[in-house]
Amino acid sequence: MIVFFNQQFIPKAEVRIDPDDRGFLFDDGAYEVIRCYRGKLFKADEHLARLNRSLDFLRIDLPEDVNFRVIGNRLLEENKLKDQDANIYIQVTRGSAQRKHAFPDENIPPTLYASVSSFERPVEKQKQGVKVVLVPDNRWTRCDIKSISLLPNVLANQRAKEENAEEAIFVRDDVVLEGSHSSFCGVFNNCLATAPKSNYILPGITREVVLQLCGELNITVDESPISEKRLKEADELMLLSTSLEVTPIVQVDDWNVGNGEPGAITRKLQLAFEKLIN
Ligand code: PMP
Repeated sequence: MIVFFNQQFIPKAEVRIDPDDRGFLFDDGAYEVIRCYRGKLFKADEHLARLNRSLDFLRIDLPEDVNFRVIGNRLLEENKLKDQDANIYIQVTRGSAQRKHAFPDENIPPTLYASVSSFERPVEKQKQGVKVVLVPDNRWTRCDIKSISLLPNVLANQRAKEENAEEAIFVRDDVVLEGSHSSFCGVFNNCLATAPKSNYILPGITREVVLQLCGELNITVDESPISEKRLKEADELMLLSTSLEVTPIVQVDDWNVGNGEPGAITRKLQLAFEKLIN
């Protein structure tokens, strides 16, 4: 597999990460995942704007000549993935320097990495629906930054896996926020509810697409906090993400959502999403 590493397109096996890389030592970096449908990058501008926002917050400067859209397209070509569905993974760290918490004094170049892998749409999960578990949100308070520091997300998703669930949903102060790697929304009396954008959730690109689709489909939207107590009143629940697209949730912990089947608004949004990517 050919990857992009520090301005070069090279076989993945030839990548050498310095043990002093601040990504390795401190999780000092940010990442993005962009979906490609048959060679076309989906919502690339939005993903790259979010990457720039994360990097601005971390105060990491990207070299001016780095264009991850061009890099992504070249990687699809080099790896013969133009005709398939794929994901582009992008990671930027502060670079490598002797281990000290504060930023290095000298100007060091950031470490740049991008790779592509074929990724099929999870159609079976989208058809049948999935189980989720609720977990306490023990992340930091800047969940809007797509940092590579993902330990709480890793532990939460492992817990989900051990309970035969697809995803763990973070709950903070009785508010149901988002999954370990997905956004979360519910349908209450035909109204789509999802946590408002804040520092407690990642501004999901798929969430934004779905809110736009709701506008086109005349589905009312309520961007206000969903309390854990209210969750059982939901007619439908969904996970939204670049990889899962619109995936129905049919079970939360040990109880069923609605009648235990994906609901009508979920189906409408899935259809509209499919139209968009086609
Ligand atoms: N929240 C978190 C914590 C995530 O990691 C992701 C996946 N990037 C999402 C939400 C969904 O975001 P997107 O729709 O942009 O993939």
